[in-house]
Amino acid sequence: MGRTIAIANQKGGVGKTTTAINLGAALANAEKTVLLVDIDPQANASRGLGVERGDPRAGTYQWLQDARGARDVIQATSLPHLHLVSAERDLVGMEVELAPEDRREFRLRERLEPCAADFDFILLDCPPSLGLLTVNGLVAADSVIVPVQCEYLALEGVTEMVGTIQRIQNVLNPELEMEGVLLTMHDERTSLSRQVVEEVRKFFNSKVFQTVIPRNVRLGEAPGFGQPILSYDGRSRGAEAYLALAAEVLRHDQEKSPR
Ligand code: ATP
Ligand code: MG
Repeated sequence: MGRTIAIANQKGGVGKTTTAINLGAALANAEKTVLLVDIDPQANASRGLGVERGDPRAGTYQWLQDARGARDVIQATSLPHLHLVSAERDLVGMEVELAPEDRREFRLRERLEPCAADFDFILLDCPPSLGLLTVNGLVAADSVIVPVQCEYLALEGVTEMVGTIQRIQNVLNPELEMEGVLLTMHDERTSLSRQVVEEVRKFFNSKVFQTVIPRNVRLGEAPGFGQPILSYDGRSRGAEAYLALAAEVLRHDQEKSPR
């Protein structure tokens, strides 16, 4: 059975999408079969994997709406083991359309259940909010990665995120685990970055990934070319970091379900 990991933080611009794309690509590089589901109406993960704005193919919105089945929405990407369900702006309507529905928090989980056996990992790129789309992501997930940017006030808002995870665990998804807090955009030259690493490790202890993602220009450039970092510049420090993160996630997975 595949493992579903939500990548969530209601704070914007902390590296959720960069992590979804590049962790997905790094796991695919290790010959794991990966499905990335873009559940953010900004559709940055879809753009970053080369799906053009206005692409006519059905995506997350039609899937959640029940207008299309998994077979119709899962697309290939440039990497053989990496698959994608893309988003478009129309997904923004889902928050409102789902609101009056029964089991509105379970829609994504119900769609993913029949697919779980086909993938080793399913990654969910959540929007920067704690709305119904993110709740659907956390309800569908086995675990959550919370990216935290190494910057001033890094922990601001993280307590709110942790509170949401706890509420979801209490009410909707008792199985949900914290996969880890991921430090992103680390600049080793600044003492601020070092302070943030210290502060976050003190707060979350062992729940912080050993791997720290550096600020790396190549990581910022790759999505403009519709490519994961491994294809765009496999030797960059950004690529190395996401390979190391994938190795950590694989170790967690081994510890949980030795095969
Ligand atoms: P949103 O909340 O809007 O969905 P996000 O949390 O998904 O944002 P990203 O889109 O991954 O964040 O990153 C924000 C910006 O920072 C993007 O332009 C991205 O290319 C850039 N970026 C992310 N990580 C890095 C990094 N390690 N080094 C350099 N640039 C990065
Ligand atoms: Mg994003």
